[in-house]
Amino acid sequence: MQLRVAGIIKESVVDGPGLRLVVFAQGCPRRCPGCHNPHTWDPAGGTLVEVEEVLAMVRKNPLLKGITLSGGEPFAQAGALAYLARQVRALGRDVITYTGYTWEELLELARRDGAVKELLELSDYIVDGPYIQEKRDPELPFRGSSNQRIIDVPASLACGRVVIASWGG
Ligand code: SF4
Repeated sequence: MQLRVAGIIKESVVDGPGLRLVVFAQGCPRRCPGCHNPHTWDPAGGTLVEVEEVLAMVRKNPLLKGITLSGGEPFAQAGALAYLARQVRALGRDVITYTGYTWEELLELARRDGAVKELLELSDYIVDGPYIQEKRDPELPFRGSSNQRIIDVPASLACGRVVIASWGG
């Protein structure tokens, strides 16, 4: 199974708690003004990688707490990323997914798209919503603008409302 990526960072400490491998998915339809990663917009850009190659990088590094899926828009490649997330969780690591969709938009999408539902449910945390330049706050941990929420996915699904992660600030 293949993924189209803008890049992969093998070790990061700024994309969620602990040491993390970060996959920047290629392709984003949103085009937010002030987006930090406009080179990730073109869905035909970036490079193709085998999901197994990414998994091998995770397996090789016992210090990784987990992976972070960023973009671009990870949910535009939900099938391949859900497969990756499932394998990563089987290795005992966690999954954080950044998305330009709001939590409410994702729940709606998940009703129509099984792959979106799967990636949503396989994410331990979702950082939701587009980057909004007017709401930029450089003091916020792990996100760019104050509209973005760090959502505890299992807790939110269990109680039917957004539960902010304890490290969500
Ligand atoms: S959703 Fe994210 S990657 Fe896409 S344009 Fe907005 S800020 Fe950039």
